[in-house]
Amino acid sequence: MDKQRVQELIRELLREIGEDPDREGLLKTPERVAKAWEFLTDGYRQNLQDVINNAVFASEANNMIIARDIEVYSLCEHHMLPFYGKCHIGYIARKKVLGVSKLARIIDHRARRLQIQERLTASIAADVRNAVDAEGVGVVMECKHLCMMMRGVEKQHSFMTTSSVLGSFHDDQSTRMEFLSLIGRPSL
Ligand SMILES: [Zn+2]
Repeated sequence: MDKQRVQELIRELLREIGEDPDREGLLKTPERVAKAWEFLTDGYRQNLQDVINNAVFASEANNMIIARDIEVYSLCEHHMLPFYGKCHIGYIARKKVLGVSKLARIIDHRARRLQIQERLTASIAADVRNAVDAEGVGVVMECKHLCMMMRGVEKQHSFMTTSSVLGSFHDDQSTRMEFLSLIGRPSL
């Protein structure tokens, strides 16, 4: 990312919305915004293999592994405004499991770019499956979208829920039900 170029664009944007980019409070804003956007979109510049970084461990157990209530922050690709909420991930390992913190890293890797919640959910499920060759994966995400809350329909309290189920979580109803009850959802 060319930060100098982004700073120039932010100065132009400030002018276009009716601001004076040279007033004191805004002097450093283009620099701060460029830095923030570099961080918020660093998923584009990361490699998933580096993110997982060999934190895949051998395991004989093949029970369901659940991580609940992982925070997620992303940016909607239609308005470039944040959406944020919780992500729940479950998977059934075959011979390999992922280090717990890596689930959060996978979420950030996919979330730190322009997204729609449906694609974000599906890509996290696919990444988890590929990382450990899981027999099945389920991802449920519940998010609030600032583009809905601050503008447009101005619905402040609505959550959007998306889900992606792969492998046995898709094919086997009892596996899916176990996942849903472990993450505290009666149904989808
Ligand atoms: Zn939006």
